[in-house]
Amino acid sequence: MKLFLDFIPCKECNTMMNELCSPEMIFADPKKRSDESAKFLRHLTYNHNEVVQAVLDNLPKQKRDQEFDFFK
Ligand SMILES: [Zn+2]
Repeated sequence: MKLFLDFIPCKECNTMMNELCSPEMIFADPKKRSDESAKFLRHLTYNHNEVVQAVLDNLPKQKRDQEFDFFK
């Protein structure tokens, strides 16, 4: 699932996103990568409520779209 979020990343977000996209992280073992993603998600949960809200708003909508396709 891919979500496009419209929010303003803070300095900490930028640092963590850069780390997550860095070659060292892309080739790191899955455990380390999932730890880093979890850290980022935790930061979003506590510091960027609007992002969490956007994700929650998005989920039911996607589900409805899928169901609609099914009945076409
Ligand atoms: Zn942030």
